[in-house]
Amino acid sequence: MARKFFVGGNFKMNGTIESVKAIVNNLNEAKLDPNTEVVIAPPALYLLLVREHLKNGIQVAAQNVFDKPNGAYTGEISVSQLKDSGINWSILGHSERRTILKESDEVVASKTKVATEGGISVIWCCGESLEERESGNTISVIEGQLAAVAAKIDNWKNVVIAYEPIWAIGTGKVATVQQAQEVHAAIRKWLKANVSETVAAETRILYGGSVNGKNCKELAHEEDIDGFLVGGASLKPEFVDIINANQ
Ligand code: PGA
Repeated sequence: MARKFFVGGNFKMNGTIESVKAIVNNLNEAKLDPNTEVVIAPPALYLLLVREHLKNGIQVAAQNVFDKPNGAYTGEISVSQLKDSGINWSILGHSERRTILKESDEVVASKTKVATEGGISVIWCCGESLEERESGNTISVIEGQLAAVAAKIDNWKNVVIAYEPIWAIGTGKVATVQQAQEVHAAIRKWLKANVSETVAAETRILYGGSVNGKNCKELAHEEDIDGFLVGGASLKPEFVDIINANQ
């Protein structure tokens, strides 16, 4: 089965009602590759606004979801609340949440389990720090992150993996095509050996980290790069070029 090209836009904690509306209007008016699945993740406050105004089949993702049912969890959002609001995706395990908010592999895995079992598709993120890369540990770090999530989930159908080297996020320092392809191939190999051949063949693996309108085409060409998770550039008109990178 061919893997449908996938582009996610992670707005992070950026934007205002006005600027978010402008991004949505730009996407509504753009000519987008019908063969690309597009999901955008505005800050939680703007999820409904975005969902109500988006056209073109673009879907909306939360940037995080809690792994407990509704209850006394101040500041959190539940799977059922996302479903109730027509939000069917969440990013989970983004390195900013892993490092700044101290989410462990296990917490990320638990959230991924609860989300997927509750009918929320997940853009599950992994990636190594500069120190881990320079000490030759990239693949083992990613494998550890994969093992934690694979121990908790059975259904990979609603999971998209985003490989995002931490040193490339928001730095303008994109991984080379070879660096990205090498890790993507290693992820696929790990899935084949530890989950199943079908999951390895069917799971989309996105690259994230300083993707822009200029570098996206070359990366999109690689066999194991099935799309992108885009931060900074998803706030700009060039996001359309990234969506259309595979044309
Ligand atoms: P960036 O962020 O494109 O701004 O590097 C990517 C991400 O954090 O998902």
